[in-house]
Amino acid sequence: MHFVFPPHPTPSVAVRGESARFPVRRIFCVGRNYADHAREMGQDPTREAPFFFTKPADAVVDDGAVVPYPPLTGNLHHEAELVLAIGRPGFEVPPAQAWDLIWGYAIGNDLTRRDLQSEARVKGRPWDWGKSFDNSAVCGPVSPAAQVGRMTAGYIRLSVNGTLRQVADLSELIWSIPDIISILSGAVRLQPGDLVYTGTPAGVGPLVAGDVCVAEIERLGSLTTHIG
Ligand code: MN
Repeated sequence: MHFVFPPHPTPSVAVRGESARFPVRRIFCVGRNYADHAREMGQDPTREAPFFFTKPADAVVDDGAVVPYPPLTGNLHHEAELVLAIGRPGFEVPPAQAWDLIWGYAIGNDLTRRDLQSEARVKGRPWDWGKSFDNSAVCGPVSPAAQVGRMTAGYIRLSVNGTLRQVADLSELIWSIPDIISILSGAVRLQPGDLVYTGTPAGVGPLVAGDVCVAEIERLGSLTTHIG
C-alpha cells in the first residue's frame, strides 16, 4: 500500500524488564470509579453504571518525560490510575472471563484540563477538550500479568514535589477490573493494544510548570512526570 506521506509511527508504551514495547491501539478511561473522588467532584457516588471517555492513542507519554504545560487551561490536574493493558480481543465478555484479556498493568496519570472539563460538564458538551489533548495519557512501563498477578488490591498514591496528594487502595474501586472489562466490551470489541484507565481516587489537584509528579502503585513501581 502507498500513502501520500509516511504513516504516523505506532504509539507505544514501555514494558518492564524487556526492550520490546506494547503497541497502543486505543485508550479508554472510566469517568468516576472511587467514591471519594466522585464526592470531591460534586457527584453522587452511588453505584450508577460506569461511563467512559477516550484519549487519542498518540497522547501516550513515557515515564520520566517532560510534559509541556498544555494550552487553553489554567487548571491542569493530575489523576493517578491503574491502567489495564489488553492483550486479547473480546466482545461481550462475562466478568469471570475478563482476566483472560489482560496482558499487563501499568501506572497511569490521566492529565486533565479541569477548567475545560468542568465547563463541558455544565454545558452538556463533550469532555474531549478537557481530557484528550496532546501528552495527556502518561503511562509507565507495563508489568506483565504473568509476573504481578491480578491487581485486585494494593496502594495507589501520588505526590507532587514530595507532598502526598492522592492515597487509596485498588480494592476501593467502585467497579472492579472484571466489571469494567465486561461492561466496556459490551460497547466495543476490545482489541490487543487497547489501554483502559480505571479511574482516580480522591485528592486530584493542580500542577504548575516545574512540578515533579510521582504516582505509585503496589507491585508496579512508580511513574514520574515533569511539568514543563
Ligand atoms: Mn481519570
